[in-house]
Amino acid sequence: MERVKKFLADNAKAGTLRSLTPLIRLGRGWVRLLDSEDRLLDFSSNDYLALAEHPEVIAASKKYLEMFGAGAGAARLMSGDLEINHLLEEEIARLKSKEAALTFGCGYLANTGIISAMVGRGDLIITDRLSHASIYDGCLLSGARAIRFRHNDMAHLEQILQEKRSQFNRCLIVVESIYSMDGDRCPLLQLVELKDRFNFLLMVDEAHATGIYGENGAGIIEEDGVSQGVDIAMGTFGKGLGSYGAYAAASRELVDFLINKARTFIYSTALPPAVVGATLAALYLVKSEPQLREDLHAKVAFFKKQLRKNGLKDDPGPSQIIPVMVGDSVKALAMAEELQKNQIYVKAVRPPTVPEGSARLRFSITRYHQEEDLKRCAQHLAAALGKISA
Ligand code: PMP
Repeated sequence: MERVKKFLADNAKAGTLRSLTPLIRLGRGWVRLLDSEDRLLDFSSNDYLALAEHPEVIAASKKYLEMFGAGAGAARLMSGDLEINHLLEEEIARLKSKEAALTFGCGYLANTGIISAMVGRGDLIITDRLSHASIYDGCLLSGARAIRFRHNDMAHLEQILQEKRSQFNRCLIVVESIYSMDGDRCPLLQLVELKDRFNFLLMVDEAHATGIYGENGAGIIEEDGVSQGVDIAMGTFGKGLGSYGAYAAASRELVDFLINKARTFIYSTALPPAVVGATLAALYLVKSEPQLREDLHAKVAFFKKQLRKNGLKDDPGPSQIIPVMVGDSVKALAMAEELQKNQIYVKAVRPPTVPEGSARLRFSITRYHQEEDLKRCAQHLAAALGKISA
């Protein structure tokens, strides 16, 4: 217990203690913290396309709940393999231009399950230094040798391949198409080109890109035209699609392999029917209403313009995720608190979620944000940054 006490005290002192903040969703992106009367606009949600509140998504979710019950009752390989899972997987496979797809309980389970199924002892995994914790945990679980390359540095990756590839049996490279805490993009075209010279399997996590990029909303893989070079396209339903869960899209053979080998798929209850219904409706909207993502992109561009206008960012990056670097964790917390006084709810992201000394406010823009909100947010952000550095 001494260790626990010390851990909590040390983290509180360093500004890195994590704690829960219960809130009530008021609708259209507004929230209220349980212990306060203030209405706050949420800038930390990944419901980018505002689909969690979309009437068609809610209606489909209710319909599936009533038709199929609250829970799937069992894992897919037991009696939880409701037909609706296959409808969802067919839709995902079509969207991602792959032969087949498989759903998982969530993105964390997908990454840990897929990675540990694909490689093991005697194999090599190479991943970006800023990869998500679920990718790292998949590497650990697999028992393969894991090596990190400098963030988005393809020359470094190539050097590692040159030095190490021949010492291992199989090699898996895992990247994110949009990095969750930095909002920047992986140079997928360059990465895929390396496949001609080094023999490896490529897995891309499209958690923050699914529904948002590409002509059909399939993601960055589609936008960059690299579907065929990506062996496993993974993504989540809990962000752009507004529901919960995750997928892997790949060849039929690879999906059959995952059904037999991915332990987080095999030993876990199938997605609840209401979630499957919501996700199917969200996918339908992504397909039939490209204006949803166009609207988001317009809002992102507007916010970036406001940031520049307020002297905040020369390069706000290429996506709907915009980190504002603070560095020190205590300062980042103070800034988040300051913004909260002005109805802006943004979380300070601190180590170990991000590297030491790179605490930040991570703004994610959603379709709930109106132009006047974005304008106000940029102004308050500039004022708060001024206060902190004064
Ligand atoms: N991959 C990335 C890149 C993520 O950002 C996240 C969620 N933060 C996950 C995987 C995990 O997804 P889920 O929340 O569905 O477990």
